Amino acid sequence: MITDETTVDDVAAVFGETAVYPSEYAGVYLRTGLLSEVGEMANVIKKVVRGDASIDEYRPRIYDEFGDVVWYAVMLSEEKGAPLHMTLGELVEAVTFDDSEHEAFGRAPYLAAATQVLARDLLTPTVSALRAVAEFSVVLGTVFGEEGNALSLAAQSVAEKLRSRAERGVIQGDGDHR
Ligand SMILES: [Mg+2]
Repeated sequence: MITDETTVDDVAAVFGETAVYPSEYAGVYLRTGLLSEVGEMANVIKKVVRGDASIDEYRPRIYDEFGDVVWYAVMLSEEKGAPLHMTLGELVEAVTFDDSEHEAFGRAPYLAAATQVLARDLLTPTVSALRAVAEFSVVLGTVFGEEGNALSLAAQSVAEKLRSRAERGVIQGDGDHR
């Protein structure tokens, strides 16, 4: 079970149980995967902006894709080799966040703008992917009025999804509904 009290290293150990990629290409694999999952999340949020569904209807899909983003960000930070004894709660507490524009902007456009900031940060080599993800998680939590930490919620749900796929032998392949 991943909670606010779980360290990044321990999250990586849980995620690592379902990791399938060639170790010699770990860096490029994880960076590319991170980018693709941000794109998948952006695609869901774009559909909400377009009016296909309400943001609350698509909350599970947004969290699902954000969980995938968290998976890659955590694995990438571990791949870089620095041990991270910080807990997910501490990671989020370290983030300063101004939500003053949230009400005026509208929830979906606000989340869309935050996704663009996330994508930009993830492509900036000097910005920690984990920090960028923690910042986004605070925006996500604000938009959905979350009681708990959106980062640990997403991390726990992706861990469950991947464990279930691993048990069924369907880690590799395509599709969100494996
Ligand atoms: Mg995905």
